[in-house]
Amino acid sequence: MSSLQDLFTHNRAWADQMERERPGFFTSLTKQQSPKYMWIGCSDSRVPANQITGLEPGEVFVHRNVANIVVHSDLNALSAIQFAVERLKVEHIMVVGHYGCSGVQAALEGARIGLADNWIRHIQDVRDRHRTLLEALQEKQRANALCDLNVIEQVVNVCVSTVMVDAWARGQKVTIHGWAFGVHDGLLQDLQMSVASTDSIEPLYRAAIEGVIAARS
Ligand SMILES: [Zn+2]
Repeated sequence: MSSLQDLFTHNRAWADQMERERPGFFTSLTKQQSPKYMWIGCSDSRVPANQITGLEPGEVFVHRNVANIVVHSDLNALSAIQFAVERLKVEHIMVVGHYGCSGVQAALEGARIGLADNWIRHIQDVRDRHRTLLEALQEKQRANALCDLNVIEQVVNVCVSTVMVDAWARGQKVTIHGWAFGVHDGLLQDLQMSVASTDSIEPLYRAAIEGVIAARS
């Protein structure tokens, strides 16, 4: 376990190493960020966007919250998406869930945590919407299936936001993806939910849900 002083020591060593290996790296970052990617992921400390994808500072714009949820009225998430799409002109937004997510597990069990129950309620809505499909699976598959289903539902929520509806209407090329990360093996899975237009949401959604259930059955 690192102490706070260790964090500063590591930081100095990292900055020195970067500057030594790539002189001018930090100076180039001061000009402007121009990432192609936006990552919407879980706050879980085991799921660091840059390290998992091998992306450097300046290459991925990140928004994280408990269980990677995009709520229609969450001004924090929507503002981040708007900034990414309209100012930074990202080309891809990936919603990334992860297996072993405590938020998903709490939603599945109906566990009471406290204030966060109200946030996790959004995943319980996903659970309830797909209750019949989930109950048909073996119990040990349900948490991973709910993780995947939650990602797919949150991709839809990004797609139907005013930001994306307007971006696609004016012809901007942005694709929204649904991925899941395996904390147990370090690998990303593509949930085959990559949406690049309003028209394609519905058929891709149906196919992706079927794909999740088939893979877990
Ligand atoms: Zn999580």
